Amino acid sequence: MDTVKVGIIICGRYKNCAGGKCLRALNNREGAFSIYKDKNIIICGYTICGGCPGGNIEYAPVEMKKNGVEVIHFATGMIIGYPPCQYIDYFREFINKKFELDVVYGTHPIPTSYYDTHKKMNYKRFPQWEKRTELILCDEKMRESYL
Ligand code: SF4
Repeated sequence: MDTVKVGIIICGRYKNCAGGKCLRALNNREGAFSIYKDKNIIICGYTICGGCPGGNIEYAPVEMKKNGVEVIHFATGMIIGYPPCQYIDYFREFINKKFELDVVYGTHPIPTSYYDTHKKMNYKRFPQWEKRTELILCDEKMRESYL
């Protein structure tokens, strides 16, 4: 079975997060990790963006790359936090171009509470919402299990 080496970058607002939801999703191949159903996954990096406006994006990817990371996942909190990170598309392009690493939007499925709140706020007005949530929207039952 092929192996993929993954790094995770989380939003600085959640800097104390121990990664429970991300790691659960990774182990179960749920949310954005569903793309690795037929692969082993090794976590080679886990860090925060550095806090707004994301200064650690300049440094963390190169360290991850040295440890073998092939793909960086932006944690779901960057995409569906309040507010969603406004720099995420820039970060992705920067990491693609400067470090030649792939970037995937999302980690664990969107928890129901976040989904419901964004829906009430007409979430589709946020730029690129559909592209960013493609892998983490999941179905209602899955979202509820990450409440
Ligand atoms: S909103 Fe974006 S730049 Fe600000 S702390 Fe979160 S991920 Fe970092």
